[in-house]
Amino acid sequence: MTAKECIFCEIAAGRAPASVEYEDERAIAFSDINPAAPVHILIVPKKHIASIADLSAEDEPIVGHLVSVAKKLAENRQLEGYKLIFNVGEKGGQVVFHLHLHLLGGWDKKPQNLPG
Ligand code: 5GP
Ligand code: ZN
Repeated sequence: MTAKECIFCEIAAGRAPASVEYEDERAIAFSDINPAAPVHILIVPKKHIASIADLSAEDEPIVGHLVSVAKKLAENRQLEGYKLIFNVGEKGGQVVFHLHLHLLGGWDKKPQNLPG
């Protein structure tokens, strides 16, 4: 798959819009377009790797980095608890075939932009 066909490669390259929460040389984190929790952030390597099932030994450090970024984002947002999820493969619920870590949380926080 070329970068042009992959929406997360497009976002990582700044060619497609996203609500970016964090970025460094190896990873980018942005809000999920269809949030499944009050806080739902995707942490994505800039390198195109299709899924955990396609991870090479050489790329293992990237996964550690994604988890570290998720931890920092959770701390910054003062999440008391959260879930970190990799969906792997079609049967595992993966829809976008560019590796990403879901950070889900914020159930303890009052929903924003709601009256009352
Ligand atoms: P998966 O099921 O592959 O683990 O998760 C893919 C996630 O990416 C879904 O939660 C979906 O809402 C999100 N998503 C798909 N396309 C886009 C997009 O263009 N922008 C953003 N911000 N999120 C997306
Ligand atoms: Zn990609």
